[in-house]
Amino acid sequence: MRLLLIGAPGAGKGTQADRIAAHFGVVHISSGDLLRKHVADGTAIGRAAREYMDRGELVPNTLVLDMLRKPVVAAANAGGYVLDGFPRTVEQAEAAYGVAKELGVAVQLAILLDVKREELISRLLARGETSGRSDDNAETIERRQQVYEEQTAPLLEYYRQRERLIIVNGDRPVDEVTWSVVVQVQRAAKQLTE
Ligand code: AMP
Repeated sequence: MRLLLIGAPGAGKGTQADRIAAHFGVVHISSGDLLRKHVADGTAIGRAAREYMDRGELVPNTLVLDMLRKPVVAAANAGGYVLDGFPRTVEQAEAAYGVAKELGVAVQLAILLDVKREELISRLLARGETSGRSDDNAETIERRQQVYEEQTAPLLEYYRQRERLIIVNGDRPVDEVTWSVVVQVQRAAKQLTE
């Protein structure tokens, strides 16, 4: 099972990816969490990524692709993954697909967590009070929403055209959203193998 969660910042990707990965017994891989760990550890990747993250901009492709190659291949070979936060652009999706297809580890289904804009902003402002994340402040939150609309939303069309897109209403309570994803993934996965 190789899944990808797409959603604007605040849509609940991290929370849902954890739960969905646990349900299917696969590994949750979050590009944002991995990047924050690199920043905290002061690695070369972290030092290069930090200023982009603080501004709410995307980190350059090569950094993210290099960082993810090993964990994604390892997870795929161990039963699967739920990717959260990658790919963020059509360019990243195409670059990753080239490599992943060869290795048999490409994404099978992309899931959009669809959440209203007002809800996204209020969730992120609330999260900013406790998350300690340098990008959960009003100005950067606004920029991250713009970056999502401009650079990430075109991915939906990319997966829709390939008949791999599942859309879930993410405005509902956490359990309901998880359940809805699980049911839709099971239904779609059956068709993939038939
Ligand atoms: P997230 O935790 O997914 O909200 O990501 C936090 C920040 O990490 C983003 O605002 C970007 O600066 C960076 N980031 C995470 N994933 C990617 C990616 N796939 N491509 C480029 N930048 C990323």
